[in-house]
Amino acid sequence: QKTVWIGTNWKMNKGPAEAVAAARALAAFRPPEGVRTFVNPPFTSLKDVSAVLQDSPMIVGAQNMFWEDSGAWTGEISAPMIAECGASMVVIGHSERRQHFGETDWTVNLKVRAALKHGLRPLVCIGDTLDEFEFGVSQETLARQAKIALHELSQEDFARVLIAYEPVWAIGAAGRPAEAPFVSQIHTKLRAVMQDITGPDSTVRIPLLYGGSVSQTNIRDYVALPDVDGVLIGRAGWEPADFMKLIDSVS
Ligand code: 13P
Repeated sequence: QKTVWIGTNWKMNKGPAEAVAAARALAAFRPPEGVRTFVNPPFTSLKDVSAVLQDSPMIVGAQNMFWEDSGAWTGEISAPMIAECGASMVVIGHSERRQHFGETDWTVNLKVRAALKHGLRPLVCIGDTLDEFEFGVSQETLARQAKIALHELSQEDFARVLIAYEPVWAIGAAGRPAEAPFVSQIHTKLRAVMQDITGPDSTVRIPLLYGGSVSQTNIRDYVALPDVDGVLIGRAGWEPADFMKLIDSVS
């Protein structure tokens, strides 16, 4: 029986008051056996949401971080700051950050290593653009992104990393969900890439999540795939009642 990870990335939604109200709605929730759940609030409510959820099984993670611990980096937030807020996870390299904020494979690697150094669990997002998908080079892009993101990590580090495959063309209102057979094919090849990265003798199984227009109508199709270890949900999970319903529906 595989562990299934289900989380929701709130993106730039919910101010502190709304975020705390949502966290309170999630605090008493108990996921089905074998399901691990997480939520990614904006920085402005990270501390309050972590406090509300500290005795609940819901893991709290930031949506981004900078790789230096402190210093003259106006507007940035470091891994120690995130940890001090009570969060234990951090999303790194989301496609919206790669697209709009110039993040590269190299900066993703710096962030992953800094997160691990401070005890945070990195959830690394990788994804193909529509052009890459149409030219049939999705796999090459994903392998490159994953290899650079996880460059120079130890076995101990690998055991704390999660990967989310989020096709850029599947994310958001303008996106269309990837077909389950396509996700299956991609994840099976990604599993081999992970084995290549962690080494032939490694026993670490890095969880591979799918994200991009996950909803009540398709969540079970993805989670049923042997090489899919969970889902990263955007819009469909922003309302706490919907998120809990999505989680319950996989049992
Ligand atoms: P949507 O589920 O809204 O398509 O967003 C997915 C996503 O980007 C999660 O990080």
